[in-house]
Amino acid sequence: MISWKEAKSIISKNIFSMGKERVLLNESVGRVLRENIMASFPSPRFNNSAMDGFAVRSIDTKKASKDKPVELKIIDISSAGSPSRISIGFGECVQCMTGAKIPKGADAILKVEDTSGFSNNDYVKIMVPASYGAHIRKRGEEINEGDLLIKKGIRVTANELGTCATFGYGELNVSQKPKISIFGTGNELVEPGENLKEGQIYNSNLYVFTDLAEKAGAQIKMREVIRDNKASLKLFLSEALEVSDVIISSGGVSMGRYDYVRDAFIDLGVKEHFWKVAQKPGKPLFFGTIENKLIFGLPGNPVSSYIGFMEWVWPVLKVMMGENCEKDLYGMLDESFPLEKTKHRFLFGRAYYKNGKLVCRPTSRVGSHMLTSALGANCILGSEPGDGFLNPGDLIKINLLPWENIK
Ligand code: AMP
Ligand code: MG
Repeated sequence: MISWKEAKSIISKNIFSMGKERVLLNESVGRVLRENIMASFPSPRFNNSAMDGFAVRSIDTKKASKDKPVELKIIDISSAGSPSRISIGFGECVQCMTGAKIPKGADAILKVEDTSGFSNNDYVKIMVPASYGAHIRKRGEEINEGDLLIKKGIRVTANELGTCATFGYGELNVSQKPKISIFGTGNELVEPGENLKEGQIYNSNLYVFTDLAEKAGAQIKMREVIRDNKASLKLFLSEALEVSDVIISSGGVSMGRYDYVRDAFIDLGVKEHFWKVAQKPGKPLFFGTIENKLIFGLPGNPVSSYIGFMEWVWPVLKVMMGENCEKDLYGMLDESFPLEKTKHRFLFGRAYYKNGKLVCRPTSRVGSHMLTSALGANCILGSEPGDGFLNPGDLIKINLLPWENIK
């Protein structure tokens, strides 16, 4: 059995990077950017109007008031997409819509509400003086050409999508999705929706794995429940190895008489890097590699499988895709947390704010077979080995489930 730290270090030495691919902007949401996104032009790209109104020379409007409006000659219209090519001279103006290019000679926009309004007349009455530069969005006031907009390693959301579209990126370089095959093993396993016979239970782990793998940004290639039978396991595995970057199993990897997963891996040439980690839940964790493929054998207890995926597999998928890692998050315990003398201890938990401070508490259902402990959880709490308990007020590491919020 090796320590949690040792196991992490062994895995990190064996991670490989996924290749890149170019995808259409529309298909880039949820993907990890593998290029820096730079501003290909300044933003705004040209001086333009922030209001529907009139482009004027501010000096011409200095004396304007409601009682004594100033009349300006309308010489053209500039609208978004159809700029006016005429220069404004003394006593002249151009009807200028939001987003339209500011005509030459104009130094301010007067909003239409402060005039006698848009019309086909030759003149417009100006009721208010325009101040120099008013309502003009200046070229480059937001972003300069060549500025770094988005750093590679970011996962694309609507936030990034909007900026990429703004700067004309029709395609993005993103990480390829890791191809994953998952399998569960156990003669007792039955699919939800079917009837249970004596001694049987429902397969829950593959449902959890599928969602977690997809949320992490991977692509499921094969998914199957296999009986506790070495030949069937080897058959599945040899096919899965052909099409996958990562294989994740649940169950059949402990000390049981019918636990054949480890043997099947090894028979197929998988190099075992470790098999047991000093952690609870999930001690019989197998990690192996074969030709740039990573193999994780997680124990079948549903909490061990779920937490095992989040603590061991999820971070690896992130590194494979080149996603930036966040800093570790710590919070203050609001309730005691049971420690293990020699093992790293993980429990589902809830992190929340109390009087403005980040606090957390573990679930009260601590058994590794008690998957309802995930209900209402927004994090996994994890502690190094120790005696007794961590007490309220002590700090503990919070692994926030990435799709959850702290409220
Ligand atoms: P094992 O790791 O095969 O010894 O399984 C440990 C426990 O997890 C046993 O109680 C199994 O019945 C249960 N188990 C194994 N696989 C699954 C699964 N896919 N879904 C739910 N429970 C499982
Ligand atoms: Mg089993």
